[in-house]
Amino acid sequence: MSEMGEGPEPGVVGGVTIRAAGESTRAAVLSVGSELLLGDLTDTNATWISRRLKEQGVEVVHHLAVRDDLDEFVAALNWLAERTHLVLIGGGLGPTADDLTREAVAATAGVELEHREDLAAEIARRFAAMDRHMAPANLKQAMIPAGGDAFPPVGTAPGFGMTLTSPTPTRIIALPGVPWELHELWDRHVADEVSALAGRRVTVTRILHVVGRGESDVAEVVEPLVDARPEATLAFLAKSHEIQVRLTVSADDRAAALAASQPLVDEVSVALEGAVAGVDDEDLETVVLRMLADAGQTVATAESATGGDISARLARIPGASRSLVGGAVVYAVDAKHGLLEVPTALLEEHGSVSGPITEALASAARRRTGADWAVAVTGVAGPGTVDGLPVGSCFWALADPDGGVEVHGRQIPGDRVQIIARLGTVALDLLRRRLAGT
Ligand code: ATP
Ligand code: MG
Repeated sequence: MSEMGEGPEPGVVGGVTIRAAGESTRAAVLSVGSELLLGDLTDTNATWISRRLKEQGVEVVHHLAVRDDLDEFVAALNWLAERTHLVLIGGGLGPTADDLTREAVAATAGVELEHREDLAAEIARRFAAMDRHMAPANLKQAMIPAGGDAFPPVGTAPGFGMTLTSPTPTRIIALPGVPWELHELWDRHVADEVSALAGRRVTVTRILHVVGRGESDVAEVVEPLVDARPEATLAFLAKSHEIQVRLTVSADDRAAALAASQPLVDEVSVALEGAVAGVDDEDLETVVLRMLADAGQTVATAESATGGDISARLARIPGASRSLVGGAVVYAVDAKHGLLEVPTALLEEHGSVSGPITEALASAARRRTGADWAVAVTGVAGPGTVDGLPVGSCFWALADPDGGVEVHGRQIPGDRVQIIARLGTVALDLLRRRLAGT
């Protein structure tokens, strides 16, 4: 009997039954490295893996992190193996003595490490291609537990899969800790295996990036729409600069789940009346740059309170050079005058955090750079006040291709970091709305 048609029987890997038919697949993520426990590194791998597992219909029941200590590592593996069908290990595959994943999995499985000539050759080839000397220690990375399945390296660290038969049948997947290597090996070697193991409906999460509206206001609009669709579930994630509306839909495969989610994404976008800046990987910055590129237009910035954060946010997006001209960080009053020629009299009359000064900065940035559009911001990010203005007093302006300038001002809530992020967002969102003609 097979629920999957042609493919391998769900729940069976390499002839070993990992999960009984009808049982849901339970997984754990085990992150390796003393840095994680010392507070020096944030475990983004566990989050990333969990999201992918959820999308593939696997329930994540434990996250665990271990130090670079073999006994503790083996104890953790045994504990997780007893409770789950699948353990994803991130990290500990480097060449140094504190990289213990190979040893720990071999010890848990009760097997020796085996030198894999194909891996050794591939590692040597990669060092040669980078014109780097390969230390003898790197050959350690060509060892995997006997009976394991090797995942050839995309950086220098190979990963591997290993099926344990005791304490209970469990599939172990070990991937390098470097995030891009982990992602790449996942797509090449892990995703299909996980889907086959799960053998059930696939879940897709669509993310709507909402800016300029409060969480409860967004919830009031979105909740009734999602309630009307039993196949979808809803979650909100409030970030400092946006609210993410996360719509999760299940179907038999990824394409079907995506197709089923689209009408709801469209419906929610319409209901939020232009507050959806982008969908999925398209966040506000990406959308703004795409619209500028489509229009063959450019943007410059004049930033006081945000200190260059707006242009940095745009510059992070690949292809930004097509539309981002540059600008000025005009933090001090002297810079506003010296770099962008805002008249001293105007600064004295209105104060540097004000509508007229922000307007003048936008005009000057556009004129000086020759960009089609210019965004300018001023504000009081705190903790101290400026010219008697309370923390959160913010202004943003947009100079347009026709020479007009639109200026806005209001109190923006939050701490210093949040105010800087939100001020950048409202300014970029003004540009987005103008480009969209809404
Ligand atoms: P390498 O072959 O590069 O040494 P590795 O498998 O040994 O890979 P680690 O030594 O554990 O991996 O980590 C290498 C780097 O990857 C870390 O310095 C860190 O930047 C990143 N990294 C490791 N684990 C995580 C994690 N859980 N979350 C985010 N980044 C991580
Ligand atoms: Mg390492």
